[in-house]
Amino acid sequence: MKFQSTRGQSPAVSFSEAVAIGLAPDGGLYLPAQLPDLSSFLSQWEDLSYPELCASFFELFDQELSSAEWLDLAQRSYSGFAHSEIAPLRQLDDQIRVLELFHGPTLAFKDFALQLLGNLYEKQIARTGTPINVLGATSGDTGAAAIHGLLGKDGVSVFILYPNGRVSPLQERQMTRTEADNVFPLAIEGNFDDAQKALKEVFSDQEFRNQVALSAVNSINIARVLAQAVYYLYAWFRLPVKEREETRFVVPSGNFGNVLAGWMLGRMGVPMGGFQVATNQNDILYRFFSTGRYQVDEVRPSLAPSMDIQVASNFERFLYYALGEDPVRVREVMHGIKNHGSFVWKDFENSHFTVSRTDDEEIGKIIAHVYREYDYVVDPHTACGFAGICGPDASSEKKVIVSTAHPAKFPQTIQKAIGLSPTHPFLEELATHKEQKFPLQAHAQDIRQFILSHGQKK
Ligand SMILES: *Cc1c(COP(=O)(O)O)cnc(C)c1O
Repeated sequence: MKFQSTRGQSPAVSFSEAVAIGLAPDGGLYLPAQLPDLSSFLSQWEDLSYPELCASFFELFDQELSSAEWLDLAQRSYSGFAHSEIAPLRQLDDQIRVLELFHGPTLAFKDFALQLLGNLYEKQIARTGTPINVLGATSGDTGAAAIHGLLGKDGVSVFILYPNGRVSPLQERQMTRTEADNVFPLAIEGNFDDAQKALKEVFSDQEFRNQVALSAVNSINIARVLAQAVYYLYAWFRLPVKEREETRFVVPSGNFGNVLAGWMLGRMGVPMGGFQVATNQNDILYRFFSTGRYQVDEVRPSLAPSMDIQVASNFERFLYYALGEDPVRVREVMHGIKNHGSFVWKDFENSHFTVSRTDDEEIGKIIAHVYREYDYVVDPHTACGFAGICGPDASSEKKVIVSTAHPAKFPQTIQKAIGLSPTHPFLEELATHKEQKFPLQAHAQDIRQFILSHGQKK
């Protein structure tokens, strides 16, 4: 299977190349040149364990690793999860189920992709014999998940820039208390934008990139999207057969990677019952799917910070399919967004997603309501998936609400809503470790110097 860019101006590459490159040279995102048809596999896959399903799925996209290697890789990727089902489906009542994606090492769904990506990197390094240095910037969840995906792996060092004093104490703990000697949390002075700017500058230095074999952790890697598709399929198999085609998955969304992954299964011949894009007050996706107008706005910090984005990077993959797989039109639209901050899709007919939007005030109300009604605690991101539940909700539609994080990651918000502070053994265990972080100026020169002196040598 080959992978091609949404913008059509880069050569097609293999799966392992697409994973290693991340962003295509023409600025587009990689997608499989042709999506496989899963319908003929469904009856065989029905009873597979999570790692078995993951391996069977990836084998359709990559022929460089053998079946046995894929199975081994998937088993190792999910062995650190705290629940035997990896992605358990919990039933709240006749209508509502919750897909719990927070049992991984950093308690958010990003572990599903980043645990697997860490193992893929390790395989690649073993095969090529070239050690790599991974650099990323984070405002929270992604950095922690990347660190836990890569810690202790041979031939790779990971450097994560984060704004000192501006990530939550628990998020900082997840990054700084691993005691792994290939992990370097870089606490930079300034805010997230300063970190991002310095990061961009380091990556634009091509000579340095080559010198230290620098690689990015970013949300647009195709391996992340594919790894996320697996849990939708796994959950779909756990539904009663007669409910599978009518159950809608409701997905708290920011960069659009999570919901896109599930939606792509529909394009691969799985009769999914539909998807709902659930945003917080940063509602660019809500506005787009309601009106056809995509308009970039200011980010307004919310109680669900991992969804505080305005430019949804994976949206381009949706556009590619929605525009009839025409890279010329994708280029036009993406250039329009870049130059004008907006685009209008005339006569947009949204047959793809339902949408909802939840502001901070409602998030608190929902957490309290769900706790009272079901004796179940949801985190502020997952709360957005319960949009409308406090109002006169006439819909009797069956739903799976995708739970993206464990409530113990956001104790203040939960405390305020229901007077309890949830905890998790993973977070408590980390507290017993030594803290290790490296204060640094947000200057490209300082970052380069740090990587040269602490990183992997070619
Ligand atoms: C990253 C994240 C999201 C948003 O997911 P996207 O793939 O960016 O749409 C939602 N909730 C949590 C807890 C996250 O970490």
